[in-house]
Amino acid sequence: MRVGIARERRDGERRVAATPDTVRQLTGLGLEVLIESGAGIAAGHSDQSYADAGATVVPALELAELGVFAHVRPLTPETVGLLRRGAVTIGLASPASELPTVRALAGAGITAFALELVPRISRAQSMDALTSQALIAGYRCVLEAATRLPRFFPLYMTAAGTIPPASVLVLGAGVAGLQAIGTAKRLGARVSANDVRPASADEVASMGAKFINLDLETAEASGGYAKELGDDKAARQRALLAPHVAAADVLITTAAIPGRPAPLLVTRAMVQAMKPGSVVVDLAAESGGNVEGAVAGADVLVPTADGSGEVTIVGMKDAASAMASDASRLYAKNVANLLELMTADGVVAPDFGDEVVAGACLTADGVVRHAPTAEALG
Ligand code: NAD
Repeated sequence: MRVGIARERRDGERRVAATPDTVRQLTGLGLEVLIESGAGIAAGHSDQSYADAGATVVPALELAELGVFAHVRPLTPETVGLLRRGAVTIGLASPASELPTVRALAGAGITAFALELVPRISRAQSMDALTSQALIAGYRCVLEAATRLPRFFPLYMTAAGTIPPASVLVLGAGVAGLQAIGTAKRLGARVSANDVRPASADEVASMGAKFINLDLETAEASGGYAKELGDDKAARQRALLAPHVAAADVLITTAAIPGRPAPLLVTRAMVQAMKPGSVVVDLAAESGGNVEGAVAGADVLVPTADGSGEVTIVGMKDAASAMASDASRLYAKNVANLLELMTADGVVAPDFGDEVVAGACLTADGVVRHAPTAEALG
């Protein structure tokens, strides 16, 4: 069966859905792999390296000839229209926001797997692209803060005086937040964090950071995810967070609710109460923003309330793509591992009796199988 990997078309996207390593894995399963010329260049993989691994490099992919199309970013309805009926797609699909594509996938009879829907269970960890990409994003946002902060992260005791460590506050301590904590700790900062999930206090402590207990009820939904706070509780959370935000040199926000816009944790007034030169990095800027005024892909300067300086709000965009080499290494492995789970004798044949396969399937046989997306489509 033929698996195709295209050069990603979306502006700023540098990742690729297969690496030479995963080409070897896929050909070892009896699959034939076609790579569009230049697909891996931004991630550090030449056409020759794919050819050496056993792929066929083609100038342009004929989508209608593929049994499987692996991708990074969600497909467009136009691309879906080029696929053949019954083909399998596998990649990120953003089902909550890409409803026209979901409709097109179902209408075209595509068996589409959305990596966002892979169940967060132990057996599926090697296929969990949300985790692998969040790990990269969490690391990256700390580096973005460090390069903008006009001071050190670590404590320095020098002949010319002692420099205290920077204070880093991380809001949202899921996969990305915990990576941000670990990275800031490795750089020597004093780190504290808050999250609304009950398990998060221990997770934060295990990373060596201080958990800020806000005396707020915890909010957990099914599957270990956070639940959206009501307006009153959200306002109370912001009020309780305000002094901690004001004291931080660096604020990293990563809070998210699956299928919902990101919760607003920090108002402009809270940013204005920070010290001049402080840096805020909003990892959720692309999905609504945790910080008022954050703009995805841009730095916004906000004057401090006392007029003595400015705070920089960094709106993260394409965070994982900025580290395309390692992001692709992990992403491509997630794709290959899910394909391996569904492949026997060189044929990808999904078994919907398997909870990972069933959970990750967005559309099949003309039906939207993911209930919340089917409901959103009406
Ligand atoms: P996510 O990206 O959905 O959200 C990021 C974090 O934001 C979460 O920790 C969430 O609790 C937090 N958050 C939401 N609203 C908030 C608010 N108002 N204030 C502060 N924080 C807020 O989460 P994620 O990183 O995908 O992780 C979600 C859960 O899944 C976690 O419990 C994680 O441990 C678990 N997980 C399990 C596996 C596995 O078992 N295979 C893999 C990855 C993640």
